[in-house]
Amino acid sequence: MSLDESVVHGSKATVKDLPSIDKLLRLPSVQALVSTHGHTLVAVEARAQVDGLRVQALAGALSPSALAPEALGRSLAGRVAERLAPRLRRVINLTGTVIHTNLGRSVLPQAAIDHLVAMMAGPNNLEYDLASGSRGDRDSIVEGLLCEITGAQAATVVNNNAAAVLLSLAALSGGRESIVSRGELVEIGGAFRMPDVMASAGAQMVEVGTTNRTHLADYERAINERTALLLKVHTSNYAVQGFTSAVSEAELAPLARARGVALVSDLGSGSLIDMAKYGLPQEPTPQQMLAAGCDVVTFSGDKLLGGPQAGLIVGSHECVTRIRKFPMKRALRLSKLPLAALEATLQLYLQPELLVRELPTLRWLTRTQAQVGATASALLTPLQAALAPRYTVTLETMLSQIGSGSLPVDRLPSSGLAIAPVLPGKRGMGSALDALATALRELPLPIIGRIADDRLLLDCRCVDDPAMIVGQLGALRTALVQE
Ligand SMILES: *Cc1c(COP(=O)(O)O)cnc(C)c1O
Repeated sequence: MSLDESVVHGSKATVKDLPSIDKLLRLPSVQALVSTHGHTLVAVEARAQVDGLRVQALAGALSPSALAPEALGRSLAGRVAERLAPRLRRVINLTGTVIHTNLGRSVLPQAAIDHLVAMMAGPNNLEYDLASGSRGDRDSIVEGLLCEITGAQAATVVNNNAAAVLLSLAALSGGRESIVSRGELVEIGGAFRMPDVMASAGAQMVEVGTTNRTHLADYERAINERTALLLKVHTSNYAVQGFTSAVSEAELAPLARARGVALVSDLGSGSLIDMAKYGLPQEPTPQQMLAAGCDVVTFSGDKLLGGPQAGLIVGSHECVTRIRKFPMKRALRLSKLPLAALEATLQLYLQPELLVRELPTLRWLTRTQAQVGATASALLTPLQAALAPRYTVTLETMLSQIGSGSLPVDRLPSSGLAIAPVLPGKRGMGSALDALATALRELPLPIIGRIADDRLLLDCRCVDDPAMIVGQLGALRTALVQE
């Protein structure tokens, strides 16, 4: 029986009507799939397809038209395409949070993308000294840049800042006591809890002071012959307000030096520039922390620095050498992919005039409300047309956040579009908004907004190219009509 003869009009197809895998694979459209993707994947998907059809046939729910050759070929091509669709997808961030951890934090500057691609396309001198023809050290690729930018004597890099803190504590504490203020025992992003990190590093945590107030005398009293270091932690994701007091790195440094213990500062976001110069809230820099007398400062590569995921460790020769030689370093080292991106990103800092233009994170953070408003208003009419008559769209001011625990209480005046369902019943409001949010997420280039006060908000701060949104509005309209 041929595939065509099996199509019985007006009734349901049965298991007997199903094509054999062989027959399916011999269809011309399927042969074309095989020549593109090879036999293995297409055969796996063909079997899964026929299994699915069998379930439908047994349930008496299989329409004969689903067994027509074109339908079979189209559906198999769809399965193969879906199977090969990447799980890691590019998205459009309209959440209003610029450095969004769930959306991959900082977006790399073009120079970093170009260098990354060029370096990954072939072998490179990752650990090879081209001058001498002998073995080199991967740290040397960025150490000079980091020292020049921060004023450090030495620098090393690892997988992320959590690794930088873990490694620094493990290498410098040697299982002895590490003193930290109770006001700085932070939890960051769920899994990074300072007491747990210290325990993992084998550092004996000695807490001093109270949640809201810690004084120099608290540190002074806690130092003894078992003390290895004083740890300062930047309280990135919260602010203690009211009757508070903390001891700065500059105040702690003379004490640490006099008593022969190391002073380590976990800065977290670690902007390399004075944010205030750009009209942004002030954030301590690694250069300030080193000048204040810290022996080691750690920070992330993909927060305010605007580069790839990385943990940067800068400080004195002596401490950085101990950290670099500690065996755990090998397990935490930075891979060549982010290292290439980091090198190119740091080079931008040698050309500070270029930063606002070339570093997406800084470009987006420094956009004025009026500039964001111009983008938002360009999107207003096309979006209204795509969503009418079910939703209304209005241009509104809103507040963006920096994100990733950077400057947690500060908000940036921004602008965007607020979408509300038209006259929904009391129960219909949430589902109308969810339907829209889902349709936006299902676009070829998913658009991620945020729902607040019964509206879907699209903050336009991070939009460089409105055409990426406008070009998808036809697909959005179709999806909402079918929904
Ligand atoms: C973000 C942060 C970390 C963790 O950094 P990752 O690069 O995400 O590993 C550690 N400490 C502080 C203070 C932070 O803000």
